[in-house]
Parts: sequence; structure tokens; C-alpha cells
Amino acid sequence: MTPTPHPPHHQPEAPRDLVGIGIGPSNLSLAALAHPLPDLDTVFYEQRPTFDWHPGLLIDGATIQVPFLADLVTLADPANPWTFLNYLKARDRLFPFYFAERFHIHRAEYDAYCRWVSDNLPQLRFGHQVDAVRWNPERDLFEVDFTQLDTDGEAEALGRTYTRNVVLGIGTEPYIPEPLKPLVETPGVPVHHAADYLDHRDTLLAAGHVTVIGSGQSGAEVFLDLLRNRPTGQENLHWLGRTEAFAPMEYSKLGLEHFTPDYTRYFHALPESARDRLITTQWQLHKAIDTDTIAAIHEELYRRTLHDSWPDAVLTPGVHVRTAGRIATTQIELHLEHTQQNTRSRLTTDAVVLATGYRERPLDRILAGLDPYLRRDNRERPRIDEQFRLVLDPVVTGAVYVQNAERHTHGIGTPDLGLAAWRSATILNTLTPKEPYRLPTRTAFTTFGLHQHPQVPHARQALRALTPLIDGR
Ligand SMILES: Cc1cc2nc3c(=O)[nH]c(=O)nc-3n(C[C@H](O)[C@H](O)[C@H](O)COP(=O)(O)OP(=O)(O)OC[C@H]3O[C@@H](n4cnc5c(N)ncnc54)[C@H](O)[C@@H]3O)c2cc1C
Repeated sequence: MTPTPHPPHHQPEAPRDLVGIGIGPSNLSLAALAHPLPDLDTVFYEQRPTFDWHPGLLIDGATIQVPFLADLVTLADPANPWTFLNYLKARDRLFPFYFAERFHIHRAEYDAYCRWVSDNLPQLRFGHQVDAVRWNPERDLFEVDFTQLDTDGEAEALGRTYTRNVVLGIGTEPYIPEPLKPLVETPGVPVHHAADYLDHRDTLLAAGHVTVIGSGQSGAEVFLDLLRNRPTGQENLHWLGRTEAFAPMEYSKLGLEHFTPDYTRYFHALPESARDRLITTQWQLHKAIDTDTIAAIHEELYRRTLHDSWPDAVLTPGVHVRTAGRIATTQIELHLEHTQQNTRSRLTTDAVVLATGYRERPLDRILAGLDPYLRRDNRERPRIDEQFRLVLDPVVTGAVYVQNAERHTHGIGTPDLGLAAWRSATILNTLTPKEPYRLPTRTAFTTFGLHQHPQVPHARQALRALTPLIDGR
């Protein structure tokens, strides 16, 4: 059964309660949790023609790195109609899933589940690119300007919506390091960001020699796919990473508690300098490689040694690509530096995959009109309160929320799908007087900092003993 939506009655010129910008998993989660709240009038705009979750990396067999319980709603409201399990029920696939005993579902399946939700929520508008958000002090409302796009992405019409509150969920965009940018812009040799891998897979499989740059999850998945599908003994592959090892992603039970609301609150309360210092040390919690992917790569390499030869694949961590240039029209020369050895060399290759990661899309483009009202930190980044609201001049009576743009204030859990439902519910609780989603006050066994949880036996005595130290008395 597909749940019945409750579209609130909306006059075309009337202001909305909330306008969402971007429909990736973050804002889709918010839209799904807002759907059963009849008093909240929302609309969400997305520039793409339909929901599409990182389509260039939906490699056959690749799985998401969080359990399926990290769907759009479950961790805030498991009884919500838009759970992954309800999607399986709607597709008559509950029994096969039950026997599959899968916690980490296929990435393609997560994408299909999100598309099912997006097809059924009435308040979503695809093919709408938001251009600007401004504050209108006469009406005490935000103005949201958008361009309606046709299926080819061409502008069709302009429009404007008024709203009391805005939530930005514009996600990330592929990042290419400065020295490598000229390569992408020149035609002739295939050089592609991993985000576009599947669009160019056939060309990359046919290329003489391929270099994958980047030792994170995307680099590992692309390298594995090329390894599996290029001929044995003629793999002709290089995989280069800047980190000192092809490091496994931290996945211990207590390590995972860094992706809880408890840790997020602790991180938010730290001074800015401590947050900035901490985040640089935590890369292995989110930027490294899933151990199953490492095992699959090793297995694939090992299988290729069974007939007494070594695969023609070079895997080298600790390598910095300094510059790159074309040789004639069909090849590329990469200038490499090994950071530990302090040595340099050159590598000639026929194709490059840049698995060099993603960066948060800058908010400033859309929020230029709000600049005079925005409060910034010491590094000119927007200040964001615990409930995901940009800190604005108090003359602005509406709120601008962000989802997945708050790593500097809320920590490494920011892009994690496992925190999306909780963050969405937190936002909705501040928007509606009834606090529709009761959220747990405690979510981790670890106590982050010297604050004691009241639920812990003896915590009160322990806290009393610590108070003099905390207060410095
Ligand atoms: C390949 C890949 C795999 C990942 N796998 C996992 C995983 O397994 N587990 C996990 O926890 N995290 C994962 N992540 C991290 C993260 O959770 C995802 O990237 C997730 O997509 C973030 O959702 P989002 O909605 O914040 O942003 P996005 O998915 O980037 O969505 C933002 C949307 O906003 C739209 N948009 C941008 N600007 C505008 C505008 N001006 N007007 C209208 N629309 C606009 C974009 O078109 C886009 O659709 C992965 C990331 C990548 C890149």
C-alpha cells in the first residue's frame, strides 16, 4: 500500500512554512518526515529532472556503507510510511530480503528506494533550480527565486516563492585538485572524475593503461571494477593514493559512536579552534576504504597469481601528483612525488580517473542576498546553531537551516546517511510547536567529555566529584 499524502491547502501567492532547496537524501528525508504533518506547508525544489543518487558510481554490486536502517526516516520514526522496509513491502520483496540477511544494501537499491519515496511525495518539484534567496523585511518573509528547467536542463521559466523558513540541502560537488584541472579541460585523452565513472567505463576498459588517483572509497571501487573487467595479465593499471596507506575505514562499534547525536552535540559545543584541529585527525572515520572492498581487491589480485604470475597492477600509497601534462595528443605524463622517500618520478598513462573526492557546494552563491545578515566564524564560514540554523541578524525572523553543509560546526557525521533522519526530525521539532518527533536524549555508550548522562547509575555522585575540577574551584 502506498500511503495517502496530506497536501496542505496552498494558495499560489501565500507564503510556505518551509522551502527546501535540493532533493538529495538529506532533504528527501526531511520531506518524508514532514509529509505526515498536516499543518506544515512545505515545497522542495531540485534542479535535476528526477531523483538520482550519485548515478556515475552506481557500480554493479557496490553497497552503501551504513546499515539499511539508515534510510530516510527509520532512525527518527520507524513507524513512518517511508521506511526502506515499507518500500520492500510495496515491491513484494520482503521475503527475498529477509532471506538475503543483508544489512548493507546495494547502492542501486538505495537509489531505487529513494526514487520510490520521491515519486510519492506531493511536495517535491523536480527541474527547478534555485538561484537566490533574499530576505524581504517589509513582508518578514524569504523570497526564493528559481528557474524552471526542461528535461535537457534548459531554462523554461522563472518563478518566485515566499516562505517563512528555508532549508538548504544542496550537497556536494566533485573536487579536482588545482594541478590536475587543466587535464580535464583539454580534449583527447580520457580524464574523468570518479563521479562520472559509469558514463566513461567502456572507454576506460578499452584504454591501454589506466591510472586511478585517490585512495578513498570511490578510488577503491573504481580500481576494483577495472581490475575485475580488464584482461588477466594485461591489467595495465596504476592506483595511486596520497594517504600513507590504503587504510581501512574505522568500523569498530565504539568508533561508530562518532556518528551519533551525542557526539554531534559534544562536537558542536567545542571551541572553533578545537573543532578545526579535531576534524583533520578523524579522516579514517569517513575517508578511508570499507574493509570488504579492500578484501575484494585483494581477492581479485590473489586470484590472478594462481597461475604463477603477478597481475600487471601497481598499487602505491604515499604519492602526491605534483603536475600533469599531455604527451602528443593521446597520452598523459603524471609527475609524481613520494612523500616519505622524498623521491620523484614520471608515469605515462592513457587514461586517468580522478577519485579525488567531493566538496560542500558553496552556500554563498545562493545566499548572496543574505550576506549582510549572516554571522560568520573566524575563518569566514557561516555560524550554525545546534539545531542546524544559520546564525542571522535578529532582524531576520525566519530561519535558514542547512543539511550537509555543517561539517565545521557539527563534525564528521554531517554527510553520513545514518544521521539524516535525526537531523531532519530535529529541524521539524523546531518548526512546529508540538515537537512531532520525540528524540532520544542518549544515543551512545561513550560519554563524550566530562558531562555525565543522568541515566548512568552513580552518575550523580561522579558528577559531584568532578564538579570542582570542571568549575576550576
Ligand atoms: C558515491 C557516494 C557514495 C556515498 N555513500 C554513502 C554511504 O554509503 N553512506 C553514507 O553514510 N554516506 C554516503 N555518502 C555521503 C552522503 O551521504 C551522500 O553524498 C548523500 O548523497 C548526501 O545527501 P545530500 O542530500 O546532502 O546531498 P546530495 O545527494 O549531493 O544532493 C543535493 C541535491 O541538491 C541539488 N541542488 C544543488 N544545488 C541546487 C540548486 N541551486 N537548486 C536546486 N537543486 C540543487 C543537487 O542537484 C542534488 O541533487 C556517499 C557519497 C558519495 C559521493
